[in-house]
Amino acid sequence: MNEALSRLKEMDTEIQHLSHIEALLSWDQETGLPPLAVEERSRQLSLIAGLLHDRITAEQAGELLAKIPAPEGLPDADRAFVREFARRYDRKTRVPKKLVVELARQGALSQNRWVEARSASDFSIFAPSLEAVVSLVREMASALGWEEQAYDPLLDEYEPYMKTQELERIFAAFLPRLKGLVARIAAAGREPDTAFLSRSFPLALQEKFGRQVLEAMGYDFRRGRLDVSAHPFTTKLGNADVRLTTRYNPEYFNSGIFGTIHEGGHGIYEQGAGAGQGDTLLADGASMGMHESQSRLYENVIGRSLPFWKYFYPRLRELFPAALKDVDLKTFYRGINAVRPSLIRVEADEVTYNLHIVLRFNLEKALLEGSLAVRDLPEAWNQQSAELLGLMPPGDAEGVLQDIHWCWGAIGYFPTYTLGNLYSAQLYAAMQRDLPDLEKEVAKGNLEIVRAWLAEKIHKAGRLYPAGELCLRATGEELDPAYFMDYLEAKYSEIYGS
Ligand code: ZN
Repeated sequence: MNEALSRLKEMDTEIQHLSHIEALLSWDQETGLPPLAVEERSRQLSLIAGLLHDRITAEQAGELLAKIPAPEGLPDADRAFVREFARRYDRKTRVPKKLVVELARQGALSQNRWVEARSASDFSIFAPSLEAVVSLVREMASALGWEEQAYDPLLDEYEPYMKTQELERIFAAFLPRLKGLVARIAAAGREPDTAFLSRSFPLALQEKFGRQVLEAMGYDFRRGRLDVSAHPFTTKLGNADVRLTTRYNPEYFNSGIFGTIHEGGHGIYEQGAGAGQGDTLLADGASMGMHESQSRLYENVIGRSLPFWKYFYPRLRELFPAALKDVDLKTFYRGINAVRPSLIRVEADEVTYNLHIVLRFNLEKALLEGSLAVRDLPEAWNQQSAELLGLMPPGDAEGVLQDIHWCWGAIGYFPTYTLGNLYSAQLYAAMQRDLPDLEKEVAKGNLEIVRAWLAEKIHKAGRLYPAGELCLRATGEELDPAYFMDYLEAKYSEIYGS
């Protein structure tokens, strides 16, 4: 058995190396690829993807796994290693290669149609492609297998071990409170001043400030770097190489700085996840939701808090005297936290953001179950938008066509954004219990206290435990959306006096 385990670990190390090479090629594609190299690069990437698939699904891996029949007897880390290796092997071998290739092909095609449809604001251009994608995703769900709901195996791709029913229970538990809060904010009639956020913020200075904040957060630039890309992301090229990208808008303050802080949260998690778990599949985030909790904890709970800006605002003002000289700390704080239901998810504030997710979750589940036809999607979208956000999209571009995720068949992904918000508030509450001086320290610019707590409670475990268990170990309780609602209600009743 020991021999089988060490052979599996050798196989896994090679899989890790290959996937880091793949990540390097993708990072390069997003940050600096010459325009004429696109086609060559996509052939290189599909070669690596094929090699990876063959390694992960190798018959030998199955034979070795069969020789480790009772992982219960193993130490924690080995047991988790076997569990995660088997999970990956199982999921990849269940889906026929033909289906994977077809979904990738259809995904690329459908992305082109989506771009076309979005610029014409006409869903009917995209509908046939989306129909093909949804039917392939249904096949994928059957190949993976499910007992309760067809959505289960898809959600499991992004939020391992979580069931749809549990997600529904969690969403149902916070939605009425969230709607109540949004209504109270709207009724308060206090519109924070946000005009100053659209003044001139030169790019080079935004980058300088972003780097200062990342340094303070404890993102390790000796094992990482920050670049610019069209869509911000974080990628791991190895335990000593975790890279961030961001984008800056010289006429809108929020996108650059909060995007940078958000990716910094992901990056710090990845840098810490390697610390305890070597170069194995365990040196990774526990789930997409847990990953998103780290980015959102830094971006929203810390990065949009008054203590954080007590320290950083004077520094920011020094860099942008023209834009901020007549804006005091209170006005700035209220401005970056303005709540306003809007049509576009990526522009939403931290309160109404979750309504956008509930909308997508409802629709993708209905699509998958077959209770909603693709051709009826725009109408269903608009109906949900009116019901949840009180807004009717003027056209498909501002409604059903705004996100790219469904082009690739990434159904089951959206809920992890809200899970991230929920986890972040619960983790922060536990952090406050453990560290009574937390806010005082943050107001002094001490963000290391935050990183150290997260490193100990979340990062170093990597994938040792499923996200739900990790939450239980870190906070003493299972995921409870009441923490998120308590956090929002306390913060926004103070800002809006509601
Ligand atoms: Zn993120």
